[in-house]
Amino acid sequence: MEQGALRMLIALVAGAALIALLDVAFPPPEPPPFSTQVLDRDGTLLSASLSSDHKWRLRTRITHVSPDLIRAILAKEDRYFLLHPGVNIYAVARALFANLTEGRRVSGASTITMQVARLLEPGPRTYAVKIREALRSLQIERRYSKREILELYISLLPMGGNIEGVTSASWIYFDRPPDKLSLAQAVALAVLPNDPNRLRLDRRAVPLQNATRRWLRRFRRDGRFPATVIEEALAEELHVARSAPPQQAPHYSLLLRQRQKGDILSSTIDARIQDAAERLLFHHVQRVMAEGVGNGAVLVIRNDSMDVSAWVGSADFTDAVNEGQVNGVTAVRSPGSTLKPFLFARAFDEGSLTPQMRLLDVPSDFNGYAPENFDGAYQGEVTVRAALLQSRNIPAVRELARQGTGSFITWLRQLGFAEIGRSEEQLGLSLILGGCGATLEELTRAYSVFAREGRLSSLRYMRDQEMGKGQQMLSPAAAYLLSDILVGHERPDFPREVLDVSRLPHIAFKTGTSYGKRDAWAIGWNGRYTVGVWMGNFSGEGAPRLSGTVMAVPLLVDLFNAIDRDGGDLGIPRPDVLERRRVCAHSGLLPSPQCGELTDDWAIRDVSTKRRCELLRPFRVDAGRSMHYCMDCLPDSGAEQAWYMVVDPRLAVWYEENNIGIERPPPHNPQCTARMEGEGPDILSPTSDYTYYLEKGAEQEILLQAASLPGVRRQFWYADGELLGDVAAGGRMFFRPTGKRHRISCMDDAGRERSVEIEIIFF
Ligand SMILES: [Zn+2]
Ligand SMILES: [Zn+2]
Repeated sequence: MEQGALRMLIALVAGAALIALLDVAFPPPEPPPFSTQVLDRDGTLLSASLSSDHKWRLRTRITHVSPDLIRAILAKEDRYFLLHPGVNIYAVARALFANLTEGRRVSGASTITMQVARLLEPGPRTYAVKIREALRSLQIERRYSKREILELYISLLPMGGNIEGVTSASWIYFDRPPDKLSLAQAVALAVLPNDPNRLRLDRRAVPLQNATRRWLRRFRRDGRFPATVIEEALAEELHVARSAPPQQAPHYSLLLRQRQKGDILSSTIDARIQDAAERLLFHHVQRVMAEGVGNGAVLVIRNDSMDVSAWVGSADFTDAVNEGQVNGVTAVRSPGSTLKPFLFARAFDEGSLTPQMRLLDVPSDFNGYAPENFDGAYQGEVTVRAALLQSRNIPAVRELARQGTGSFITWLRQLGFAEIGRSEEQLGLSLILGGCGATLEELTRAYSVFAREGRLSSLRYMRDQEMGKGQQMLSPAAAYLLSDILVGHERPDFPREVLDVSRLPHIAFKTGTSYGKRDAWAIGWNGRYTVGVWMGNFSGEGAPRLSGTVMAVPLLVDLFNAIDRDGGDLGIPRPDVLERRRVCAHSGLLPSPQCGELTDDWAIRDVSTKRRCELLRPFRVDAGRSMHYCMDCLPDSGAEQAWYMVVDPRLAVWYEENNIGIERPPPHNPQCTARMEGEGPDILSPTSDYTYYLEKGAEQEILLQAASLPGVRRQFWYADGELLGDVAAGGRMFFRPTGKRHRISCMDDAGRERSVEIEIIFF
């Protein structure tokens, strides 16, 4: 008795072990490869590609399918699916009995699980195969949940030709997602796998229509659906159709397929915004095609989550002539003036500049690099605000020279500009005018810091991607100041035919145009979205009217009006550390008692400079105001005090050259023997330690020009100690070099002197 029980126990354990071993040794086959689907943030299918074995085999999730379709499939194929362990013993017994007693084949014994086994491992319809399928379905039930089995089933059902699964069939035959099917369409998809190649809908509608109506009537009889719904479905005509699955966001889909694993890629794209961006860019390029601009790209970022909401790499992916497959969002191009805001935002954080402070806009030479403004003109000096709004080049280059290219490039690299970081060695001051490489992706992401209180985060491409903590690149105050300056409503810089201000949404934006009119940029933002637009040709060809203002801004405005219609305000809160303050209208600095006109400006508390305006300075003068005295020659009888405007020497030169009269102080007392304090002339040309390349025998001359403090009347020029001549302060004279090296000196009438060394190479 004891022994018998033990033997039985051993047999049971051995049996179970054998079954487990066999189960592991002969697992059911893996599902075949699926098509890759790219979904938008709400699960809408953006695009699908053929599987690696060239099938339209889109993996289907139950939640993405109309409940009617699931109900129809369960009612038709396997009513007890949720109850049986893979094999329906009752159905098998009934079928066997019928086969034996009546000699006819009764189907229906095959459960959904067994059908999945057959789909995974097709074979002839023999008893042996049937038994294998039954065993396989036990294995499958052990490995997968009921929900997973049903999802495999509806993903693998043959739907005719190379179409498998209800999602593929729903898109290809009915051009809609499987959760938007009518009852007739749902039942048709449940019926189609019975004989997919005879019933398929891209050939003839009648056979499938008839089969569908048969099942609908059966469902009515069984009371599976309300009678009225069935009546409606019976009346519906199915149409012969075949369309391709959607191909939205093609560049983005391609990018994700290269970067991500898996057959369902849940992206952050917002199908509504993507659709608007694709449509608007396409039509915009159609309009400007005649002007030699064949392409463009758009990137839309959601500022709160850093989601990529739209990514349009070209105007038309299918346009081979204009290289539509090129992804314009990741293409490295010249960014034009689009880096300027970052430069000035840094200066705000450094405290050295505020929006109303003045910057020089005069001819400038940086070791032979002499940038020009886009209009070829100069304004003498401009406020930071105007320099940004009008995108003036000289003030930006001067500011970059002050900050240093090395430190700015290091900062730009942290801001995500990879190409700029890589080519640091080759970059100079021209980088602020676009003499470098950047992508629309880099630029748009970098601009998002203005909308996100100065914080830079990674872009989110996939829904399940964590949002990074981000890095504080600017203070919230500096970011706000930039947005405030570039906000669109007071933009006198825009010709009315280009920008109808009444249509302008509440956004801040900056434009850019690259050298040779090859790239047009506009990047705009409000609190909710940052949108980047590039227009140009992938061939790199320029076009006469290609500019950020004319070509990119109108599209930017259309985009914002389409995606953020109810925007309302800018939506960027002003940080408390920003204070309104009164400043001298002529310098932007804190007013001195002499300053006449005042204006309002923003300052960052405890950061912005507290320098006082020194534009007007006191001079001791004689009664006739014909000369001024220094402390050494001040007569005992005393002198009168008079205020004169003392501007930057370089600005004084520019005023002189442009006949802009400002009252200058009278010259220093000629009888005075004291050397006056202060700096000697500031030599503007030639540039120190610079090599001039001159053509042999061309009699080329080098410009000599220096700026002096007010009160200086004449300047004396020397070459290697020999007097060349004298000019009024700031005047020009010319020098014809003869040797390989020259020492050029300039002395003012107070005896102060400065020199530069130059090298000449004749070729
Ligand atoms: Zn002042
Ligand atoms: Zn003196």
